Amino acid sequence: MNYNTEILTADKSSIQKAAELIKSGEVVGMPTETVYGLAANALDPEAVSKIFIAKGRPQDNPLIVHISRMEMLEGLVTEVPELAVKCAKKFWPGPLTMIMPKSDKIPKTTSGGLDTVGIRMPSNKTARELIGTCGLPLAAPSANLSGSPSPTSAQHVFDDMNGRIPCILDDGRCAVGVESTVISFERDCIRLLRPGFISVSDLKEVTDKVIVDKGVLDVVSQDAVVASPGMKYKHYSPKADVTIIDGSLDSFRKYVADNKTKNTWCMTFSQDDLSEIDCPAVIYGSTDEEQARRIFDALRELDKHGAEKVFARCPNKTGVGLAVYNRLLRAAGFQVIKL
Ligand code: AMP
Ligand code: MG
Repeated sequence: MNYNTEILTADKSSIQKAAELIKSGEVVGMPTETVYGLAANALDPEAVSKIFIAKGRPQDNPLIVHISRMEMLEGLVTEVPELAVKCAKKFWPGPLTMIMPKSDKIPKTTSGGLDTVGIRMPSNKTARELIGTCGLPLAAPSANLSGSPSPTSAQHVFDDMNGRIPCILDDGRCAVGVESTVISFERDCIRLLRPGFISVSDLKEVTDKVIVDKGVLDVVSQDAVVASPGMKYKHYSPKADVTIIDGSLDSFRKYVADNKTKNTWCMTFSQDDLSEIDCPAVIYGSTDEEQARRIFDALRELDKHGAEKVFARCPNKTGVGLAVYNRLLRAAGFQVIKL
């Protein structure tokens, strides 16, 4: 791994160049509407293993396979549950990953040793053109070093992957900002394994039987057998020690005033949150959607400032807010102070 990593503005010729690299077994940085991904040919175990090396990702953490047309699904899975057909009609292309039984075409390297595979059809135009030009399903996890906040700009990818991959297609900031919603199917139920922009109430428009897996909001032990291996790994962590303060604005202000030390920063919804407290802050937005777009950038920004301790205001735990809360919980190593 010693590439001269290029950031290329996404256009016809750079997409063509990236597709050639992927077809020759390389890994490239790919924009999607959720976060930037590290894309390789999902059917080639050698290419896929380069993703794991570039990220430093544990081998048992499966990769999501990205397609651009419904016909690409055939052959990758052995069964498409009726609920999956309904979800695909409603949410694809878009930020929803569906776990299905994998066919032999998907190597175990891609599925992290599992007999299932997560499939997603992104809506981002560059991602779709790249997949279409390759004519291949692309395995793509988030393009960060394992454990770090996910990248929502080409510069974030460069910061983590410089020297590790040949190129990054730059398509600006990600529209959604948090990774896809991940679901699996059990008889007539949908199980939510990872919350994302497609919310529980969105899923309930397909069936009212939506189970939120325990791992979405609870600590999962390292040796646990879990429905979704990504749940048990350290995630999205800045260098700073983050604590979520779950309470009113007044109680947040008081807590910060009483507990801040020399290098304490706040992560707040707006500038107004900071009146009456003398503490530097990164602002991550006042709506669920804005917080989703900003959260990972905010975590990276805190590291740039050299923050040692961070007190974060607690996002909503419903709608898209649940996805933000799920990410922030992991960034905070599950440290929450309820006031
Ligand atoms: P990332 O690629 O960083 O967005 O992470 C993808 C996550 O999707 C993994 O960490 C898993 O938690 C989940 N996932 C992917 N494939 C499967 C699968 N076959 N079964 C269960 N969870 C999966
Ligand atoms: Mg990731």
